[in-house]
Amino acid sequence: MDLSDLIDRNAAFTPDKPAIHFEGRTLSHAMLADRIAQTARGLKSELGVGRGDRVAILAANHADYLVLLYACARLGAMLVTLNWRLAVPEQLYILSDSGAKVLVVDREYSAVVAQLATALPDIKVVGLDFTPDRAVSFDGLLAAGTGDGRNPHTDTSNPLLLVYTSGTTGRPKGAVLRQDALIWNAAMSHHLHDMRSDDHILTVLPMFHVGGLNIQTTPALQLGATVTVHQRFAPDTMLKSIAEDRPTLVLMVPAVMQAVLTHPQWDNTDTSSLRAISTGSAIVPVPLIEGFERRGLPVLQVYGSTETGPVSIYTRLGGDLSRKTSTGLPGLYCEAKIVDDDSREVPHGTAGEVVIRGPNVLYEYWGNAEATAEALRDGWYHTGDIGTRDTDGYFYIHDRKKNMIISGGENIYPAEVERVLHDHPCVAEAAVIGKADPKWQEVPVAYIVCHKDKSIGAEELRVFVGEHLARFKIPREFVFVDSLPRTALGKVQHFMLREQSGD
Ligand code: ATP
Repeated sequence: MDLSDLIDRNAAFTPDKPAIHFEGRTLSHAMLADRIAQTARGLKSELGVGRGDRVAILAANHADYLVLLYACARLGAMLVTLNWRLAVPEQLYILSDSGAKVLVVDREYSAVVAQLATALPDIKVVGLDFTPDRAVSFDGLLAAGTGDGRNPHTDTSNPLLLVYTSGTTGRPKGAVLRQDALIWNAAMSHHLHDMRSDDHILTVLPMFHVGGLNIQTTPALQLGATVTVHQRFAPDTMLKSIAEDRPTLVLMVPAVMQAVLTHPQWDNTDTSSLRAISTGSAIVPVPLIEGFERRGLPVLQVYGSTETGPVSIYTRLGGDLSRKTSTGLPGLYCEAKIVDDDSREVPHGTAGEVVIRGPNVLYEYWGNAEATAEALRDGWYHTGDIGTRDTDGYFYIHDRKKNMIISGGENIYPAEVERVLHDHPCVAEAAVIGKADPKWQEVPVAYIVCHKDKSIGAEELRVFVGEHLARFKIPREFVFVDSLPRTALGKVQHFMLREQSGD
């Protein structure tokens, strides 16, 4: 049995029920199962894809993104999901590091595909919704496929996803997730959302990232529910879809929450179909949570990373959502604790590194035994995040270990200072980094983006932060900028600010 069999089972139970709505077309569960089978046949007979081979995809969200994932599962192959915001040399690095045999690319990236294919002459290119030069189209591949498209040696212990970390720390590593990690991850997603087969998920976040792919989308398909897929996030389209397609659940990241809450149409959008929204990927400012709660929408928090599936710590629909700065409790099928530098568990309330163990956790970093040994110790994945746990077991994420500033021997978590800055009505975005200092080793420096039509001076912000935090946490400098460097998920890239500041 492999992961694609779950789709077949649902096709048997509810063949005519919609599985995926995409760009005005609908695939029922039976059609989805057929398309997966056809794709597996095409990949195997036409391109020689077999167990352990890597198939890369460089595309915006698409129904066939999911089809390809399950076809790879059927063959025991691995899907390498490429971040479309990366530059060509970065894509090349991932394609050659993963040793991808096939590259599926959509029309939007047709301009770069020639460059990629020239640099990697052995790679077989497949065009999604178009036919590239000297290559086949996805539909052509499906039509040509013959044979059974199965691999009798495949089971759920096969590696399936190879996802390169999205890069807030600047060094992409390929995290390998096995098929069974996706099964356990989905079981936790069902638990956190109280997900049912009559749920309807709206997916707007990129599926090249485990958040867009695995927090709601694959769990819903594996449960026999329905997913509406948007190519990419656009606030207008999303709000229209919420009102007209009537989804029951949607995942947002803080940047998307902010865009939605400040959208002129938000107040008039009918959100009555939604049971909750989920969020995560970065610390979620409390005003954003409250903004959705004011509309009667519970906000569920999910903490995790590429390496954990990602679902691992979460608050639960129907559970206690009152601790708004907490990312919740360890998920149903994994363990989490806070440890010191010697991997010893620390008492409640003491800060330390968050570590996670469970069947959802990565198998290894691709071709990087050193990084695997560093991150996975006694089965515990070391997240690199600093957190605390309260006496009820709830987790609080403070910041990335790498972002922590040590000033005169005191620890400063940029996220804590950023949270205070976000509370100022003039501040739209804030990021805090450490800058080398001869006296204090490091001092905090804040980068500020003001709301449109608002401005504020450094002195006023200094006083504001001082009203909420200890003196040593007050940024020494305030740098006013138009925007902050962010990943495709809208996460601030602190390492780029540090590079810019010359540290
Ligand atoms: P890199 O691993 O290269 O630094 P990245 O941070 O984007 O890139 P991901 O795996 O995409 O890597 O993100 C995982 C990280 O995101 C977590 O380790 C944590 O720092 C942060 N994160 C995820 N969910 C939450 C959350 N709910 N609250 C706070 N931080 C979160």
